[in-house]
Amino acid sequence: MKNEYQIIYDRLFDHYGPQGWWPAETSFEMMVGAILVQNTNWRNVEKALLKVKPFLEPEAIEKLPLDELAQLIRSSGFFNIKAKRIKAYLEWFRTYEYDVDKIKKLERGPLRKELLAISGIGRETADVMLLYAFEKPIFVVDAYTRRIFYRFGLDMPKSYDVFRQKVEAELPRELRLFDEFHALLVAHAKEHCRAKPICNQCPLADRCAIRLD
Ligand code: SF4
Repeated sequence: MKNEYQIIYDRLFDHYGPQGWWPAETSFEMMVGAILVQNTNWRNVEKALLKVKPFLEPEAIEKLPLDELAQLIRSSGFFNIKAKRIKAYLEWFRTYEYDVDKIKKLERGPLRKELLAISGIGRETADVMLLYAFEKPIFVVDAYTRRIFYRFGLDMPKSYDVFRQKVEAELPRELRLFDEFHALLVAHAKEHCRAKPICNQCPLADRCAIRLD
């Protein structure tokens, strides 16, 4: 019998189709985008990425003075903090000679620890990088995931990692599945399970507890 997570995944996949995430041309752009999207929406990130695009190579960003980088990414909000975070991230990336393929060879667990040790890289940011830049199957827990699972009727742990592990334990460890699952949950939170949900014609409606409290 299918577990609830698999059912949610299948329903969303059937409804929305493959999402082909992350929206970026290169792994480096993906990683910068993952830092820029902290505490803001993707529209603001797009504006910042457009400005920073001419410098979107690790060496070019390393050469940029901190305040110039901050100005370029201004539209993403918290730009001084995020500029520092991008610089801290680059320091780590340099230790692998900016070579994503070298990093991909690491095991998921030790790599995650390294990412979490970088200043300003929290669990969600580390996990989207693991998933979309370094191709490690991992379940990303974000505010949309929490909202959808709660409304659906699943009582999930508060702790990020316990939540993540609980879902991972029930699903096959396939990169494609986790890759699509996160993107599908984001699509669903924007299309149907919004702050004010549109339950009519929602692909989960017949199984959903619709807990809105
Ligand atoms: S039925 Fe409503 S509350 Fe449940 S997942 Fe769909 S949109 Fe969200």
